[in-house]
Amino acid sequence: MHEEVTALNPYHMAVQQFEAAAEKLHLSEDMREVLRQPKRELVVNFPVRLDSGRIKTFTGYRVQHNVNRGPAKGGIRYGPDVTLDEVKALAMWMTWKCAVVGIPFGGAKGGVICDPKQMSPAELERLTRRYTTEISIVIGPHSDIPAPDVNTNSQVMAWIMDTYSMHEGFSIPAVVTGKPLSIGGSEGRNDATATGVLFVTRQAAKRIDMPLRGARVSIQGYGNAGAIAARLFHNEGCKIVAVSDTRGGIYNESGLDPSAVLRHKQERGSVIDFPRAQRVRVQDVLEVPCDVLIPAATEGVLTAANAGRVQARIVSEAANGPTTPEADKILFDKDTIVIPDILANAGGVTVSYFEWVQDLQSFFWGVDEITKKLEVIMNRAFSAVAEKADQYHCDMRLAANMQAISSVAEATQVRGIYP
Ligand code: NAD
Repeated sequence: MHEEVTALNPYHMAVQQFEAAAEKLHLSEDMREVLRQPKRELVVNFPVRLDSGRIKTFTGYRVQHNVNRGPAKGGIRYGPDVTLDEVKALAMWMTWKCAVVGIPFGGAKGGVICDPKQMSPAELERLTRRYTTEISIVIGPHSDIPAPDVNTNSQVMAWIMDTYSMHEGFSIPAVVTGKPLSIGGSEGRNDATATGVLFVTRQAAKRIDMPLRGARVSIQGYGNAGAIAARLFHNEGCKIVAVSDTRGGIYNESGLDPSAVLRHKQERGSVIDFPRAQRVRVQDVLEVPCDVLIPAATEGVLTAANAGRVQARIVSEAANGPTTPEADKILFDKDTIVIPDILANAGGVTVSYFEWVQDLQSFFWGVDEITKKLEVIMNRAFSAVAEKADQYHCDMRLAANMQAISSVAEATQVRGIYP
C-alpha cells in the first residue's frame, strides 16, 4: 500500500471523459463546443461577520452547465479546497447524471471556500444566508435548485430555503432539495444516494454471478453517502471490512459494525481509533482485499498510481469523479466493473427530483412508493448502460457518457440555437 496520488484538475478530467464519448458518438465540433463548457459561471465574494466580531470575506461559486433538458440542479459544497474548476466539473457531471437516469433537469453545482470544521453553527448560518442572497440572482424553483453535498446538510438547505423565501415574501420549498421533512423535504432523500448505489451494485453483482451476501465491502468516506452505504450494504448481508474519513482508515477482515463506527465517529470526530480494528491510511482502504469498493469521499483518488492494486471486482462510485481516465483503463483491462458516478450515485438527484415534484404539488408520497420508484429508475438506467457497454465493448463510464451526451445533444439540437 503506497503513498498519495498526484493532484489533478477535475474539470480537465471531465472534459477528457466528454471528448472520449463525443468522439465515439461522432458529435459535430459545433455541438462539442456548446456542451464542453458551462452555460453560466457566477463568482461571488461576500463578507460574513464572525463570532469574534471580525469580518471575513469568502468566495463562492454557482455554475450552471446545461439547461436544455430542464432547470439546473446540483449540490452545494463547503470546503477549504473548493475551486471554480472543481465546481465546473461537478456541474457538467450533473448534466450527464440527470440525462442518464432520464430526469428532466440540467446540471449545476455550487461551492464556498471555507473551513466549516473551524466555524461555529452561527457563523455557518450567516455564511449560508449571505451566499444564498448572492446567488439568488440565478437560483429559483424553476431555474436552478441546489441540494446538499460535501459538508452541507439538511440544516444548510433549511437556511437556504428560508433566506430565499424571506426575499420573496412567502415560502418556496421547491427552491432546494434535501430539506428537513418538516419544511417540505422528502421521505427517503437522506438514504437515497446510498440506496441507489446498492441497487446498481446488486445489478452488477448479478452480471458476474457474485452473491452480495457475504461480499467484502470497503468504503472511502464516512459521511452522508459512505456511512449510509455501510449500513445498507451491512443489512444486505455484506461484510464491511474497511472504512475511512479525512483523518485515516480502519480495517477488520471479519467485518465492522457500521452503526457502532458511526457512533464512534459522532463522539470522537473520526472513525480512527475504533476498537477492534487495525488502523490504516486513508488511501489504503482503496487497496484492501475486498469484493466491492465504494469511493464515497472526493475526486481523483483512483489514479494510474494505485488502480493496479485495487482488489475489488466491482467499484461503485458513490463519490463524484473518484477515478481518473488512466485508472479507468487499468481497471477495465483487469475486468473490474466500474459503475460510474453519473449512474451509481444518481439515486440522490432522483429522489431530489421526487422532492421537487412533491413540493410543487404540495402532495407528499410515502417512503415505500419513493423507494420503489427509485429502484425502477436505477435498474432501468443500469440495464441501458450495461447494454451499451456490451454493444461497444467499452467500460460503463464511456457507455453512460454516450447515453447521456446524446440525449443532451438531442435536446439542444431540437430546441435550436436562440435567437
Ligand atoms: P459528506 O460531507 O457527508 O462526507 C464526506 C466524507 O468523506 C467524510 O467522511 C470526510 O471525512 C470524507 N473525506 C472528505 N475528503 C476526503 C479525502 N480527501 N480523503 C478521505 N476521505 C475524505 O459528503 P457526502 O454528501 O457523503 O459526499 C461524498 C461524495 O459523494 C462527494 O463526492 C459527493 O459529491 C458525492 N455525492 C453525494 C450525494 C449526496 O446526496 N450527499 C449525492 C451524489 C454524490
